[in-house]
Amino acid sequence: MTTWLDSVAGIVGPRHLITDPDTLAAACLDWRGRYRGRAQAIARPGSTAEVAALVRACVAAGAPIVPQGGNTSHCGAATPDDSGRALIIQLHRMQALRAVDADNNTLTAEAGCTLAQVQDAAAGVGRLFPLSLASEGSCQIGGNLATNAGGVAVLRYGPMRELTLGLEAVLPDGSVLDSLSGLRKNNTGYDLKQLLIGAEGTLGIITAATLKLFPAPEATATALVEVSSPADALALLHALQARFGDRLTAFELISGLCLQLLARHLPDARPPFTPPWCVLLELNDGGSEAVLNQA
Ligand SMILES: Cc1cc2nc3c(=O)[nH]c(=O)nc-3n(C[C@H](O)[C@H](O)[C@H](O)COP(=O)(O)OP(=O)(O)OC[C@H]3O[C@@H](n4cnc5c(N)ncnc54)[C@H](O)[C@@H]3O)c2cc1C
Repeated sequence: MTTWLDSVAGIVGPRHLITDPDTLAAACLDWRGRYRGRAQAIARPGSTAEVAALVRACVAAGAPIVPQGGNTSHCGAATPDDSGRALIIQLHRMQALRAVDADNNTLTAEAGCTLAQVQDAAAGVGRLFPLSLASEGSCQIGGNLATNAGGVAVLRYGPMRELTLGLEAVLPDGSVLDSLSGLRKNNTGYDLKQLLIGAEGTLGIITAATLKLFPAPEATATALVEVSSPADALALLHALQARFGDRLTAFELISGLCLQLLARHLPDARPPFTPPWCVLLELNDGGSEAVLNQA
């Protein structure tokens, strides 16, 4: 008898339908090990058309769908529930860089590209893709978009919501929303992509995106500054913004407790001082490093 999983295998090819218990167990556990679910299988589509066919097959069979990228998020939304009925759709095979346009400062990447791949592609044409997270080697652009990821440079460049010009996604009826545009002044109608960004996969499966690139900074200055309270940190932030404007790229408030935990769990990582609070900040500029260091 043919099951609906046979039809899933028919869509992605038997090699890309995974039911091996170890691989399945890893995909059913979140990054922090706090949430565990169960699923029927993992499907790894190779194209937007295959994602659309998978969604239609799941809807017809009444099977829940869990899109999954690098599985590095922290709130369990990439983990199936414990009904054991879900199909996990992993985008790992969809890693094409469809276009890198240095003239327009844009890049169109498929959702399964890791963040590091996109950063490298931008650097390859002398540009910066500014989203940066500690998980960048394994998190994927689709996951970054679905969580509206921010990262360390959010102060200067904004989260994924502000870094995205166009989106391609498969909607719950299996149709494809194609708004892959690199046009900055796009004032035509509703901005549907913003509904999908930050939706954690509830409104559709993101398959590709057109992202903004920026000039690569030539000078960087980084400092760890001791402050006595969050109010002092805020005063420092305002003073730096008044002096440097958007050359202030990162500004992270770190508590003394955090540094103590770091010292306890990573004995080799010794903080230079143990203040009640400190700020890790970064300045970037297109000119010479001396300008930042003297300022
Ligand atoms: C060490 C570390 C540091 C981190 N630092 C930061 C940080 O500074 N800032 C920050 O914002 N986050 C941070 N994160 C969290 C995490 O890396 C981000 O949330 C990341 O954007 C998740 O990407 P992912 O591919 O792993 O998504 P997953 O964990 O696989 O999925 C996250 C959500 O997106 C959905 N999803 C995944 N792919 C798609 C898709 N193609 N279409 C639709 N929905 C999809 C999933 O269903 C789930 O709801 C960090 C994580 C780690 C482990």
